[in-house]
Amino acid sequence: MPNDLVVLRPQGLYCPAGDFYIDPWRPVERAVLTHAHSDHARRGSAHYLAHADSAGTLRNRLGADITLQTLAYGEAVTHQGVTVSLHPAGHVLGSAQVRIEHAGQVWVASGDYKLEDDGTCPPFEPVRCHTFITESTFGLPIYRWPAQPVLFADINAWWAANAAAGKASVLYAYAFGKAQRLLHGVDSSIGPIVVHGAVEPLNAVYRAAGVPLPPTHRVTDPQLTKADLRRALVLAPPSAAGTPWLKRFGEHSDAFASGWMLVRGARRRRGVDRGFVMSDHADWPGLQKAIGATGAERIIVTHGSTDVMVRWLCEQGLDAQVFATEYGGDDLDDNPSTAAEEPASAPTSEAAP
Ligand SMILES: [Zn+2]
Ligand SMILES: [Zn+2]
Repeated sequence: MPNDLVVLRPQGLYCPAGDFYIDPWRPVERAVLTHAHSDHARRGSAHYLAHADSAGTLRNRLGADITLQTLAYGEAVTHQGVTVSLHPAGHVLGSAQVRIEHAGQVWVASGDYKLEDDGTCPPFEPVRCHTFITESTFGLPIYRWPAQPVLFADINAWWAANAAAGKASVLYAYAFGKAQRLLHGVDSSIGPIVVHGAVEPLNAVYRAAGVPLPPTHRVTDPQLTKADLRRALVLAPPSAAGTPWLKRFGEHSDAFASGWMLVRGARRRRGVDRGFVMSDHADWPGLQKAIGATGAERIIVTHGSTDVMVRWLCEQGLDAQVFATEYGGDDLDDNPSTAAEEPASAPTSEAAP
């Protein structure tokens, strides 16, 4: 429609009135970024605007010399008569929803978000708007996450049992966001925590932002004895699976933490002993709650189960449509191709017998 505040262009989501893009997938003049995951934050744009807590990760990933303006949550800037502000999305450190106001219209682009407060970034805040642009990574009714105390009790019990049996516990999780959430939530009194080289730089960014994380070791740490390694929790990105780096831990149990672990066969396909259902995205009830809380009458769905979500929204009497974006392709947890097979008809724990 002619007065839409955000339209779809080949480069990404575009705000014509303000002449800027939100999370563009091609280089542009002005990019407002929701967060530093690589499907949302891409190289080559001339100017970036993002939350202050994203600065460290963005400079790491896009180049130390990028032109980056940062905002605090709730702080507004006006560009060509369009007011832009960032609001907590609860997804990873520095993640934000982008609120755009112009000529009496308010639009909000969510980026990725999650509702449950995990203690590693400010929780999602619903923002009232006329049009809400939402993700739908887990937009199917089967996706319902266990409450965090249940999740962490499971992870701690698995770690403690392995430690008692003299085996390291290797837990695969995406290095930015998921790994820090695990660190923050596990019971660090069970044993030492060893992190892969891809994880520690992100830990440093979180610690610098004031997020409390337990002490972490590198496997080369001379303080660690062989006995320490046999009762350690080892956090590594999925790409570390099958690499020589794991040999240092000897016989170990392994597990994968992802929302896709709710899908039948996902754990088996990963070839790990355990699957923990954990996501930095909203589950089906979370998406519905978040969308409802905006009060928006028009909803645009960007990635994930877009068609199912649009159908459901239309049934609720809302004006809903899809923007075909290039989000969701990079990080494993965002990647629908890892869940290509049919979802299980009922959630299964996928626990090894
Ligand atoms: Zn993300
Ligand atoms: Zn994403």
